Amino acid sequence: QAKAGGKGRLAMFDPSLHDQLGHRLQLEADLRRAIGAGQLTLAYQPLYDLEPYRLSGFEALTRWIHPSHGPVSPAVFIALAEETGCIEALTAWAIDEASRQLAQWRREVPQYADLVMHVNVSGKDLSRPQFVPRVREVLARHGLPARLLTLEITESTLMEQRELALQSLGELRALGVRLGIDDFGTGYSSLAYLSTLPFDCLKIDRSFVMGMDQSPQNLEIVRTVVSLGRTLNKHVVAEGIETPAQLQMLKTLGATIGQGYLLARPLHASQVEHLLRAPGLEAA
Ligand code: C2E
Ligand code: MG
Ligand code: MG
Ligand code: MG
Repeated sequence: QAKAGGKGRLAMFDPSLHDQLGHRLQLEADLRRAIGAGQLTLAYQPLYDLEPYRLSGFEALTRWIHPSHGPVSPAVFIALAEETGCIEALTAWAIDEASRQLAQWRREVPQYADLVMHVNVSGKDLSRPQFVPRVREVLARHGLPARLLTLEITESTLMEQRELALQSLGELRALGVRLGIDDFGTGYSSLAYLSTLPFDCLKIDRSFVMGMDQSPQNLEIVRTVVSLGRTLNKHVVAEGIETPAQLQMLKTLGATIGQGYLLARPLHASQVEHLLRAPGLEAA
């Protein structure tokens, strides 16, 4: 630990770095506890079929309100969970809770029985042998058809776990679970590799969608991803839609599903219940 040389020395004697490390360790311990103590909740962001426009499902997004620091950004605590190994417990919880919730909504509002639920998983989760049996058990316990669950895996975490992930992806597919590649365009997967993966949807990263009505280059990237998705016969989901111009362009390009603040923010479960009971109000 006591590395000779400038950098190591500096780190040891820099009080602000020391504080950061202490803060990190504390946050890590707090997160572990939070998962067990029911401090995590899910927000549900609606997904819409673009043509014709209708609610098609939700993406479950984990929220953590720290008892003393308040809300912690998922960008922070998901990265922390991936580095420290508690991502497994977090993911298991998220899949269980999202499945339970969707099963409940299907029972309560039968005309929406075909809504889907997307849950984010890390490439690390896929490398665990218990992962697929656990998903099977959760679906059975909640009586949820596997085809209504989509697991989203970011392109970058997938690339870290190629071999092991591929086996799990095949097993999940065999179960009937759907698979999506998240933040597509930000990793480095080759088209050759991509075409071997058993996935159902591509989610174009928000950064491209956000810029598409400003930058011709981003527009071309989105156009290319949409046409790639169509060639491979996948759904193309556009995330981060914030303006009517973006929405219109995406429809024209042929993206199949949209998500973004323009259409709906991530919602509390009780807000989703309102949405499901007042379908006339859902349109953007
Ligand atoms: P993601 O899976 O790409 O999820 C979409 C993120 O974009 C969410 O951020 C959502 O709130 C945000 N978003 C949606 N529409 C818009 C928009 O129009 N504009 C802008 N600016 N943002 C929009 P969030 O909830 O902060 O989550 C960030 C990331 O954290 C997620 O990105 C996902 O990678 C990860 N994450 C969240 N929950 C989980 C989880 O339960 N498990 C795992 N493994 N990762 C999760
Ligand atoms: Mg996602
Ligand atoms: Mg995404
Ligand atoms: Mg993202």
